[in-house]
Amino acid sequence: RWGVDADGNDITEADASMKYIVGGKGANLAEMAKIGLPVPPGFSITCQTCVAYSGNDNTWPEGVLDEIDEARIDLEERMGKKLGDAEDPLLVSVRSGAPFSMPGMMDTVLNLGLNDESVKGLIAKTDNPRFGWDSYRRFIQMFSNVVMGVDSDLFENAINQRKLAKGVKNDTDLTAEDLEALVEQFKVIFSENVDTEAHPEILVDGVATFPQDPYLQLKLAIEAVFGSWMNERAILYRQQNKIPDDLGTAVNVQIMAYGNKGNDSATGVAFTRNPADGTKEFYGDFLVNAQGEDVVAGIRNTEPISDLKTTPGLEPAGEELEKIFGILEDHYRDMMDIEFTIENGKLWMLQTRVGKRTALAALHVAIDMVNEGRISKAEAVQRVEPAQLDQLLHPQIDPGAELDVLASGLNASPGAAVGEVVFSSADAVEAAAEGRPCILVRWETNPDDLKGMVAAEGILTSHGGKTSHAAVIARGMGAPCVCGVEALKIDAAKKEAKVSGTDVTLHEGDVITIDGTTGRVVLGAVELVQPELAGDLETILEWADEISNDETLGRKMGVRANADNPDDAKLSLEFGATGIGLCRTEHMFLGERKQIIQSFILADDEDTKKAALDQLLEAQEGDFLQMLETMSGHPMIIRLLDPPLHEFLDSPRELAVEIAKLEALDADPKVIAEKSALLARIDAMSEANPMLGLRGCRLGIMYPELTDLQTKAIGTATAELIKKGLDPKPEIMIPLVSTAAELEAVRAQVEGVLAEVAQETGVELDIPVGTMIELPRAALEAEEIGRYADFFSFGTNDLTQTTFGFSRDDVESAFIPTYLRKKLLKTNPFETLDAGVAKLVDMGVKGGHAAHADIVCGVCGETGGDPDSIHMYYDLGLDYVSCSPYRVPIARLTAAQAKL
Ligand code: PEP
Ligand code: MG
Repeated sequence: RWGVDADGNDITEADASMKYIVGGKGANLAEMAKIGLPVPPGFSITCQTCVAYSGNDNTWPEGVLDEIDEARIDLEERMGKKLGDAEDPLLVSVRSGAPFSMPGMMDTVLNLGLNDESVKGLIAKTDNPRFGWDSYRRFIQMFSNVVMGVDSDLFENAINQRKLAKGVKNDTDLTAEDLEALVEQFKVIFSENVDTEAHPEILVDGVATFPQDPYLQLKLAIEAVFGSWMNERAILYRQQNKIPDDLGTAVNVQIMAYGNKGNDSATGVAFTRNPADGTKEFYGDFLVNAQGEDVVAGIRNTEPISDLKTTPGLEPAGEELEKIFGILEDHYRDMMDIEFTIENGKLWMLQTRVGKRTALAALHVAIDMVNEGRISKAEAVQRVEPAQLDQLLHPQIDPGAELDVLASGLNASPGAAVGEVVFSSADAVEAAAEGRPCILVRWETNPDDLKGMVAAEGILTSHGGKTSHAAVIARGMGAPCVCGVEALKIDAAKKEAKVSGTDVTLHEGDVITIDGTTGRVVLGAVELVQPELAGDLETILEWADEISNDETLGRKMGVRANADNPDDAKLSLEFGATGIGLCRTEHMFLGERKQIIQSFILADDEDTKKAALDQLLEAQEGDFLQMLETMSGHPMIIRLLDPPLHEFLDSPRELAVEIAKLEALDADPKVIAEKSALLARIDAMSEANPMLGLRGCRLGIMYPELTDLQTKAIGTATAELIKKGLDPKPEIMIPLVSTAAELEAVRAQVEGVLAEVAQETGVELDIPVGTMIELPRAALEAEEIGRYADFFSFGTNDLTQTTFGFSRDDVESAFIPTYLRKKLLKTNPFETLDAGVAKLVDMGVKGGHAAHADIVCGVCGETGGDPDSIHMYYDLGLDYVSCSPYRVPIARLTAAQAKL
């Protein structure tokens, strides 16, 4: 319970810390009541009740309905009114409230308690027939749709027909009589369309009847809210946002506050600061004489919150709201998101929560709050969600690009996106599945569009404000979004959109660029550029590094990058990597150079082999010179070749097709014979399981010339750079080792070659040699292996593949999505370190240290850039994580957070 009793005493029982019990909304309503803010009284039904209810095939746990009854009676007593009363009825809202906000995903019912009797009471009490009938028709429409599953369009059509018949444009032009007639019509629509098999309780004498009993209304509404926890879009949203399914949602039953009682009433949503860029300003919209859903649905055009204080009849409430913004920020020490209603001049707070924000805003607000003395630097570092930084590392429109700006709207979620126009969520999903980037173009999105919003590169709407569904969801996902582009006249059925003021009509498949940072919509594909580390991002990352380097807070975990070309190496340094944790040399052999390797592997005669090796040596020396020069002063782990063999050879299937074609064309028999011989040799080398075949150190053991060549190239390039006065710091890594004997042998060979190079060049070479731990046996035997290794780097791609027995190239599309859906896996183990694989890493780290205490341990698999995994790596005692250059800033922030 929250709010006051009949004597005005605060009887609030929960507080902001209880979101796992009464949900985020319930907890914060209670907190607001506690600190004396005006909150309409009410009570919450716990998340645990929802779990018990839905976990038991939608049956009520014993005693709960009685408890709800007690709470309801208590509320009635507190308010001195009763639900359904014919003279002065109590009306409530029934709203979902999960521990984490899931905007628009679950159900809400407003105006509950209205029936044929109580509507009269409402009218008598307010002396406002229009308001009474409007409330009742809204209730029937919402209850029928949300609770009973009747199509909302049936009601909307009835409203539209009435407006047409009256020759009026707006809902507000309908009179009390019109609305009363609509109520009768709505009840008929309900009776004709409700599924009585699913809801036999609404049958009266065998006839489907809109429920008149307010207690039945309440019970059904609560059941519907519970049910909405498991609706498809809520499940998808939770998957997207990594919210566990077993939390359940609370239900909040709260007395209604009306924003639609006339021009001294209003409703709105606001943020205490700008959630798009973090500017310290009041941000949000309100609507005079309207109910909450009107704002979110974007049905009418809203007014900016800054005008509230100067709107006649609303001035005092506007002043009070401004004060409350300050009180909330002081109390929560964060940027807050607020829903409010003003009823006949009186302000009511309907909700507050820590506001969702873009990465840009998260950084800006955190830094401002440090400067305002509200929070510490460490808190600021913890406030920024690492995964969110991705948004800032997203492409932006090239400032120098020539733009054919078609139209402009609101800059609702930053970043730019290029793609084909699609007009439905389903088309977006289809385009994405076919690998065609697309922009989802909608009048306004609704929760059913979630799949399409996830699939699309960006979202564009012609209607709705910055707090509309599209804007809120896009910001949460980090997808670029431009909304409210009024010039866009969309005909979704025809799959086209006319752009007013131009002669352009966009059709499905036309390419556009949207710029969520400025709100521009541009015809055609625009060149995008990556932003640099600058401004607020740089500041927060500097603070993060200070924390990482602070020994009093614990040991440091460094961040390196995976890079195999000079551009990526440069970018890694710009993004703050301290070195390269993995340079995959096989990536240097793709393209034209593949032919050289192929001719080495397939050649029978020594001369051809030798010529290929010479070419390779020259190429690799050049590669290493460039990379080591770029990375001068920073460690750079160069891994010896590690591709499955088939990646270097032509595809036998394509070759067979080519031969068949040549034969059909009666081509030169000599050519055909050569190709056939090549095919035979490739066939002879083919492996049933290439991932478990001749790869990693096994390739170098079978073809020692390759190890010699690569080592020589590394040694020679290093010597040359040292002579030039640079500080190259290569480290040689031997991949896919499963036994200590393999490493011992290859290490000896590498050291032999390095000694030769040192002698030839006269430069002393001190190059550490280490190995990857990426097979279970290597982890199990880490102590043995550690004797021959200066460092370990955990390759979680292969370690996950071989621990699970999951083919890394196949399962992510084949069955992992199903496994996730069926909860056979909590997360994709190729993205986030799995607990079982983590045990092997733990064993590896311990074994390595047992072999020698100063062994350096890092990780270079994909999980190295994943925030959840980075926390695990810190706890496992790794010295650094290595990830793709674009994830380096994310990893730097997370590495600091892991210490706090
Ligand atoms: C790994 O296996 O995790 C790894 C980094 O190596 P690769 O992905 O190149 O096999
Ligand atoms: Mg590997």
